[in-house]
Amino acid sequence: MTDLLLPSKVIICEVGPRDGFQAETVWIPTEQKIRIIKELAKTGVQSMEITSFVHPRAIPQLKDAEEVVRNTQDLTGIKFRALVPNIRGAERAIDVGITKLKLMLSATDSHSISNANRTTEDALNKLEPIIDLAEKRGVGVGGSIAVAFGCPFEGKVPFSRIAEIVQRYSEMGITEVSLADSSGRANPNQVYSMLGELKDRYSKMTFSMHLHNTRGMALANVVAALQQGITLFDSSIAGLGGCPYAPGATGNIATEDLVHALYEMGIETGIDVDSVINVAKDVKQKLGHDGGSYMLQAGPNSQLHIKTESQEKLG
Ligand code: ZN
Repeated sequence: MTDLLLPSKVIICEVGPRDGFQAETVWIPTEQKIRIIKELAKTGVQSMEITSFVHPRAIPQLKDAEEVVRNTQDLTGIKFRALVPNIRGAERAIDVGITKLKLMLSATDSHSISNANRTTEDALNKLEPIIDLAEKRGVGVGGSIAVAFGCPFEGKVPFSRIAEIVQRYSEMGITEVSLADSSGRANPNQVYSMLGELKDRYSKMTFSMHLHNTRGMALANVVAALQQGITLFDSSIAGLGGCPYAPGATGNIATEDLVHALYEMGIETGIDVDSVINVAKDVKQKLGHDGGSYMLQAGPNSQLHIKTESQEKLG
């Protein structure tokens, strides 16, 4: 018997407080956001995307970004990062003590215009001042490419487009890029081949994966990425975070599903399976729904049932 050749350790970044909360239409009180973040911190998670410093009018749900950050920075052992859509957001993030910024960029013009009101090229040209500011203020900065594996408006995205953006990032001094399957269109073959090609071309770049489970392919895509040696994955508690172009669809890959799957494969995450499931239950109860979570439906493998006689007959 031979195992798949996979990394032995993975770092999960919990993105529920950003990607998950921003998709919630009903206001989540700041106190409740802080409480959920503190509960998540107890599961052993080492990295968290805590909020986005967008204009409060664009996403009212995250208008309390500063307050959330101020009340959670004492949590030790966690690296916090925040999404910054523009220079003003970057200033706000750094002023309140965020030490790692994540840049926002879409692979296609249609998604970029719908999301940020400008083409991909225009958006790329606005990144440099943010990177300069981060350097001046001594904070880290990583790139991202939304809809990297398929766009809800344009469908398939040519690989050349992704390579071009990674090239531009690398010219700007960026060493880490998050590849986002924002509307859950990626398949394992595509993930494997694209990562293989990008790693060949940009051997100094670190790639991380941000996968949505909109079409049930996220876990399969995780395995394809693992086979390419990827060790950085985003996930969201209770699977929160939908796709605005597929209302009612499942969201990000659920943290508890990812942690459970990796645990079953013998891959370390530092996160305790049972405690993360408990936080997911709590989050579902607080928000009144989840975003698609196998653990909340079926429970972990470790949860065995007592066999009754009739079940025995059914086998
Ligand atoms: Zn997302």
